[in-house]
Amino acid sequence: MRSSLIAVAAMLLVAIIGCRGSPTAAPPYAPGAGLPGISHVVAAGDTLTNLSARYGVSVEVIAAANRLRSHVLVPGAILNIPGGRVAPPPPVAAPAPPPQQPAASTAWFKPRSAWATARVITSLAKPMERPYRITVHHSGSRDDLNEPADRRLPKIERVHQAQQWACIGYHFILDGSGQVWEGRPLVWQGAHAHGDENNRGNIGVCVLGDYEVARVPPALSAALHQLLDRLCSEYSIDKSQVHGHRDLWSSTDCPGRFLSRDLRAWSGGLPAPASPLVQTRALER
Ligand SMILES: [Zn+2]
Repeated sequence: MRSSLIAVAAMLLVAIIGCRGSPTAAPPYAPGAGLPGISHVVAAGDTLTNLSARYGVSVEVIAAANRLRSHVLVPGAILNIPGGRVAPPPPVAAPAPPPQQPAASTAWFKPRSAWATARVITSLAKPMERPYRITVHHSGSRDDLNEPADRRLPKIERVHQAQQWACIGYHFILDGSGQVWEGRPLVWQGAHAHGDENNRGNIGVCVLGDYEVARVPPALSAALHQLLDRLCSEYSIDKSQVHGHRDLWSSTDCPGRFLSRDLRAWSGGLPAPASPLVQTRALER
């Protein structure tokens, strides 16, 4: 009797150990899910199979990385495509250019892969909720215009990552010519508006330069307005939810008086919001 009990106990032990080490246990993430991802905004007609072919990432990896419970994609949802190597379309679906201007295409937008030398530290990043507001900044330094943005942006990112941020804090950066550069992929919450709560659903747009002292060149102004129009259209953001940093936070001049004036011209002179950014203890990252 005792020997048969020992045998049963041994079998149970083997079963438990075998279960814990089973390769069939589902990992929390599929392989590659920790890699920096490409942002993809689901468009009508998108399927996981199409996205898999487009980015060279398996359906399973995409589904796992985004914790999809269903393979039915909802238009407007933002997916992270981990490890995707194909140059992504802009995270904001660019309206098709009018037929008479085919050359315009999407040259207005440079993806992160065009400049980034560092990876997004995804363990520090927080997923972005559906955007519902935009905060506009300037970098506050004329020096930022002294070299091409693809060389300047890695330096700004190094400064931000030194603060234990996942990567550069802004989602979009405009250089002095009005070229738009992808910063932090829009699948990740930004770090630009003082704390976790204020960054929630808040797209960060930064214009390189100091617009407290310099006027905004017309081409840059036009590019900023176009970007804001695209973002507002893509995410159904009301103009009343688009503000300069200093409209929300009284202790900063950002984005400078000239850019603030330009922003008011774009918005039609909307007043500052009734409820400014909240005091928060949760750090941004
Ligand atoms: Zn700012």
